[in-house]
Amino acid sequence: MKNNVPSCIIELLRKFQHKLVPSVSLLLDMKTVLVLIALGHLFSVILISAYWRTHKKDRILSLFLVAKFTQGMAWLLIFLRSGIPDILTILLSNSLLFIGTSLETAAMLKMQQGFDRSAKWLYITLTVAAIMGFHIVVLFYNQENIRIAAASIVMILFMIFPAYFMIRSKHPSYIMKIIGMLYVWVIISLIGRTIAALSSDMQIGMYTPGIFQTLTLLSLFLIMFIGNIGFVLLLKEQVDTELVRLANYDDLTGVLNRRTFEEISRRMIAQHAAKREPLSLVLFDIDHFKQINDTYGHHIGDSALQQLAKHIGSLLRKEDSFSRYGGDEFAILLPRTDEDEADRLVEVFRQTTMQVFVLEMEGTLSISLGVVTLIPTEQSNLESIYKHCDTAMYAAKNNGRNAASRIQAAAM
Ligand code: GH3
Ligand code: MG
Repeated sequence: MKNNVPSCIIELLRKFQHKLVPSVSLLLDMKTVLVLIALGHLFSVILISAYWRTHKKDRILSLFLVAKFTQGMAWLLIFLRSGIPDILTILLSNSLLFIGTSLETAAMLKMQQGFDRSAKWLYITLTVAAIMGFHIVVLFYNQENIRIAAASIVMILFMIFPAYFMIRSKHPSYIMKIIGMLYVWVIISLIGRTIAALSSDMQIGMYTPGIFQTLTLLSLFLIMFIGNIGFVLLLKEQVDTELVRLANYDDLTGVLNRRTFEEISRRMIAQHAAKREPLSLVLFDIDHFKQINDTYGHHIGDSALQQLAKHIGSLLRKEDSFSRYGGDEFAILLPRTDEDEADRLVEVFRQTTMQVFVLEMEGTLSISLGVVTLIPTEQSNLESIYKHCDTAMYAAKNNGRNAASRIQAAAM
């Protein structure tokens, strides 16, 4: 074969090979590793199937199972081929491998909401092009090193997007970052293998021992490892996030639930007492909400609650806590907020509510608010602050509603 790779790169790779061979002298046996990879995929199918039995509706999990099974079959075929390269098994095993890798990447990305329509089409196109390209290579340039280079290039193309996505997504978790970096490592070693395979001087074959074979086998094992453990950890992380959301937030409006709000408030009160800083608590309740339910139905009442929570939430700072205290009553804790600022905000909340146009009832809402501001002491407690604030809110109700009322902090 004509050597297309620049000689300086070959020289560099050869130096790398000579330098590393003594230190990476673990002569991995190709067949042993192949069977380990095949079994790794197939046993993960057995284990995950047990979990899948009670989660059959989970489409991502089903996709992952199919992906693992396809790859397990591909590796088993490669193993059974035992070094006798017959064209049919080469074509079949590599096609299965490409399909399996593509499906697994799709499952990983789907779980992280990174598999939109364009990613879907990219992967379908890539898989079809990879299978067709590989067929062309095998049918017209059937040499082992070219096959290795072609398969490596396909794997690199499959992995570039998940590597980028895992590292560069908006809020990557540590697990995502580490998985992304493992992908990068595999990509780099595959690039090395491709270049080495394409340079006739390096004599790279599937069963040629040496640093590049060792690196490739470790990389293949790593790909399987990332797939299995990485997927399970990402799945767990996602379930944990969902559980935390369910435990801390109100289902209907998405704001904090009462229990979490109280927990945060107690912590805030203690912190403000230690620093001698003012904080304010605001309670508000929708006026004549029963009438809205009675006139338009519970469903539209729900929608009104959601829209109000969304509008008020958009006015708050990051450090403020906003909660649905129950029914149509909401609470807001404003850290480091004195009387003047709290009064100004309360008026903004009241005015904003009057502009919340609930489409389904073709009308707007109004709220009555109570507010207290205090510099807490060690004796201050949430129950007493809440009671005063509630009294203030009922004063606003009694004053004709769509109003705010303040109670001066005496002994809270
Ligand atoms: P007021 O001006 O005195 O507050 O009058 P109101 O009619 O709003 O009276 P109140 O605040 O006591 O009524 C709350 C109503 O909110 C009673 C209940 O039917 C309704 N409600 C409580 N939770 C929900 C909910 O999740 N969805 C809907 N649609 N209604 C709810
Ligand atoms: Mg009400």
